[in-house]
Amino acid sequence: MTGKTHDLAAITALGIVFLSNPVDPLRLSTAIVCIIANLIGGITPDIDQPTAPFWRNLPIGNIFGRTFGKLSGGHRFLTHSLLGAALIGFAVHWLLVFFTPVMGHIDTGYVWWAFMIGLASHLLMDMFTKEGVPLFIPIPIKLGFPPIKALRVTTDHWVEHLVVFPGLLAINGLLVATHYQQILEILRRVGSSH
Ligand SMILES: [Zn+2]
Repeated sequence: MTGKTHDLAAITALGIVFLSNPVDPLRLSTAIVCIIANLIGGITPDIDQPTAPFWRNLPIGNIFGRTFGKLSGGHRFLTHSLLGAALIGFAVHWLLVFFTPVMGHIDTGYVWWAFMIGLASHLLMDMFTKEGVPLFIPIPIKLGFPPIKALRVTTDHWVEHLVVFPGLLAINGLLVATHYQQILEILRRVGSSH
């Protein structure tokens, strides 16, 4: 899937988890950092791809991208597995612990969850593509859904742009429609916190 689809999938997953789990009122700063962390999480597994949006946005990204791609075994290897997700989760946890003193009132626990939800959404979305995902590394099997490869999506193909992306938009529309009062209440509480 392309970066655009992964971004939307990450936000969609965050919306679903957030609206189906009652959480304490969030500060606006925490909510904003959560959304940024969620979007970063949503494209992080593709750091093993030298041309990923993650690297393209950095001035010397290509060199880093190529080096990291080699280290993690090339596209769709360690960073697209449960083992990789656990390692990244640990790394992000300690990064957040390290930066907590300078993060003011931002609740880093929520930030971690938002990042991991984005990461999980990436693995799930890539399972719908022809290449599949090596979820259980070191077991060398690539998993995909549906199991028949021919029924899966080709990255950047019209199916992704005309079916998957609009499908995700529709899920968001449905979420807003079915949780309208709840969303208004959250916005009201976020607006009055500081
Ligand atoms: Zn990927």
